[in-house]
Amino acid sequence: ILIPFLGLVLAFCFYSARENFKPEMLKGKRVIVTGASTGIGEQMAYHLARMGSHILVTARTEAKLQKVVEQCLKLGAASAQYVSGSMEDMAFAEHVVKEAENLLGGLDMLILNHIGKSYFSYFDGDVGHVQKLLRINFLSYVAMTVSALPMLKESGGSIVVVSSMAGKVGFPFTVPYSATKFALDGFFSSLRQEFSIQNVNVSITLCILGFINTESAMKAAADVVLMSPAPKEECALEIIKGGALRQREVYYKYASTKIPLLIRDWAADFLDYLVRKCYSVENLKKN
Ligand code: NDP
Repeated sequence: ILIPFLGLVLAFCFYSARENFKPEMLKGKRVIVTGASTGIGEQMAYHLARMGSHILVTARTEAKLQKVVEQCLKLGAASAQYVSGSMEDMAFAEHVVKEAENLLGGLDMLILNHIGKSYFSYFDGDVGHVQKLLRINFLSYVAMTVSALPMLKESGGSIVVVSSMAGKVGFPFTVPYSATKFALDGFFSSLRQEFSIQNVNVSITLCILGFINTESAMKAAADVVLMSPAPKEECALEIIKGGALRQREVYYKYASTKIPLLIRDWAADFLDYLVRKCYSVENLKKN
């Protein structure tokens, strides 16, 4: 009885000692947001703009990025610029970071958020697709981190990695995607340990998201996933807050992400069963 009680007291003390988020924390900060032409990335760019950051957004579709930049400037960004290209190409991933150096003169926060297109169905055995997705969703994150590290060390900055419940728990119908998200956890959680040992003052925040109402997620999964999606605007803000506060991990929404993970290590089969109950497999077959 005493151990859980002490645990609760310690958790409470830790929680109340945490610094509170203030939008001014992002004022004048130099931030890269990847995958910012749509969805959560686009919303993060708008939040950062309202907070007065210098923003560099990237994705493939130039026309959409131009509109995001225009909107960021209207919302009050200190500056807003874009670089377009595909993260399948590691040279492009490095180029984006170089552009941040040229255009912003340094970097305070690197928000890694983009994902390549995948399918929402049973694993089809296409190894080439898994390789391609690993390049876009994982290796480009590694390449950007390596390139950005000298600037982040100089600023005492932050790396924010957008992941998913599918990167912590086995979910059906997203096998290649889940593999890339689990890889992010392995890489960035290990790197965080080394930063700690080497006193590298760069924080790493891994964001564990549940189902969010972005256009692409709704199109792919709304008929099959029996959960209500959370709003992308609020999700985007929670990611930024977690990064600014240098939190180890962000759970959004807390009840649908953190609680299942508490079950995972004690009753994995039970959690798998609950996860399967959240899918309407009949609707998948009609897709
Ligand atoms: P979207 O599909 O809305 O956005 C994906 C972004 O990535 C777009 O800006 C897209 O732009 C860009 N992108 C796609 N392919 C490439 C490529 N080859 N190179 C560079 N950029 C590319 O995604 P969400 O907003 O839904 O998701 C954002 C993050 O949140 C992801 O990391 C995702 O895994 C995570 N997440 C989302 C959930 C959800 O339910 N929505 C749930 C859990 C996690 P363009 O096509 O112009 O290149």
